[in-house]
Amino acid sequence: MTYDHFKDECGIFGIFGSSDAAINTALGLHALQHRGQEAAGIVVMEGENHAAHFADGLVADNFTSQRVVKKLEGNSAIGHVRYSTAGKKTARNFQPIYAELSLGFLALAHNGNLTNAQTLRRRLISKGAIFQSTMDTEVIIHLIALSPKATLHEKIIDAVSQIEGAFSLVIIHKDGVIALRDPHGVRPLSLGKLGDAYVVASETCALDIIGAKFERDIEHGEMISIDKNGVKSVSPFAKHSSKFCIFEYVYFARPDSVVEGKAVYEMRKNIGIELAHEIKIDADVIVPVPDSGVPAAIGYALESKIPFELGIIRNHYVGRTFIEPTDKIRHFGVKLKHNANLAVVKGKRVVLVDDSLVRGTTSKKIVQLIRDAGAKEVHMLIACPPTISPCFYGVDTPDKKDLVASHLSIEKIRQMIGADTLAYISIDGLYRAITKTKRNNENPQYCDACFTDQYPIRLTDKVGEVAPLFEQT
Ligand code: SF4
Repeated sequence: MTYDHFKDECGIFGIFGSSDAAINTALGLHALQHRGQEAAGIVVMEGENHAAHFADGLVADNFTSQRVVKKLEGNSAIGHVRYSTAGKKTARNFQPIYAELSLGFLALAHNGNLTNAQTLRRRLISKGAIFQSTMDTEVIIHLIALSPKATLHEKIIDAVSQIEGAFSLVIIHKDGVIALRDPHGVRPLSLGKLGDAYVVASETCALDIIGAKFERDIEHGEMISIDKNGVKSVSPFAKHSSKFCIFEYVYFARPDSVVEGKAVYEMRKNIGIELAHEIKIDADVIVPVPDSGVPAAIGYALESKIPFELGIIRNHYVGRTFIEPTDKIRHFGVKLKHNANLAVVKGKRVVLVDDSLVRGTTSKKIVQLIRDAGAKEVHMLIACPPTISPCFYGVDTPDKKDLVASHLSIEKIRQMIGADTLAYISIDGLYRAITKTKRNNENPQYCDACFTDQYPIRLTDKVGEVAPLFEQT
């Protein structure tokens, strides 16, 4: 992997009671596309009847044709967009994952990552379970299938009580849709309403696209069942303190989403404002690294009273598929995607604002791009603290050794990227931007392990050094 940002994780969507369940799900997944571009899948049901479609690549390219929509008839559906965080990139790892169980057909979509999946997998295989995929998610299906409890709901509660880590889940069965969040609430999940239909989605932008009204976030450790009688809520899992992923606010979630009651765009702007409180630079112009650095740059410009300008223009027609496959194309590097706006940066003291710095390779190219365009000074500000540790809760991150801040000082990274200044927001500054208070060091309000190396949820597989049974990607 050579990317220079954390990769998004997965997005999930579910709908019950809609005559257009499949197309609404396709639209919802399209809105969640930023959470995973590798593959997508939709499973629809109406009573015992079910149909499914899976495809590599983008939702808009694979799920909007009449042929596909016609195949997906049913009044309830769930869907998934995938970036593989656990499990190899093969067709058998598509989600939603489905199976015929003793109580009938069931399909499940997962956002997050289980931290005891390998431990459970070994146990299940030793009992004779036959796995079809290398995904952590498949253990949940096996645990449901093997549960001695009587009803589907009880089986799901029994299964979920055995898994650890981060999980927002949607499950479809003959009578309806079930949605639940892990007791720490690491990944987001919202409930909405579209006429008489109920909708669940990773982010509110997926409700907006179909005109659904946001009702509320699904609570940490809450399980809701949606069927012809409406929504029923239970909280059957052990209570834990909230550990929502703080990086959702920094980078992952779409800026027009509201997650955990906070508008992502506002949070990113606040981060820029806090950054301006913490780091003062004499400069002529504030330039965002597009697109995710934009709100923080706006906040920084507002607070510092230095003009905000689009000093880097992004070519929106360069997709990942064009950039990633060959080294030859990669050689053109950042210029394929970004160009310096000479009218803005030439002869100026430029402050660049980016959302994060993972390996430093892209930052180096961007700094050079601005220098080549004639900037007098180039200062780089990062809207999160140094990322020093990988994520085990559903985000694809480079190994620790490839996280440049895990082994180089900020000064050394500055030299490496060739900037006049390199500065990051502090961890307390990040918390102030989001909560108006500083970090509670005894019991942090969020998961921030990639900045602090303090993992809030037990890493059973890692601590026990449970090697994967299959190669993970
Ligand atoms: S380790 Fe980082 S990316 Fe992963 S859940 Fe925690 S804050 Fe989010």
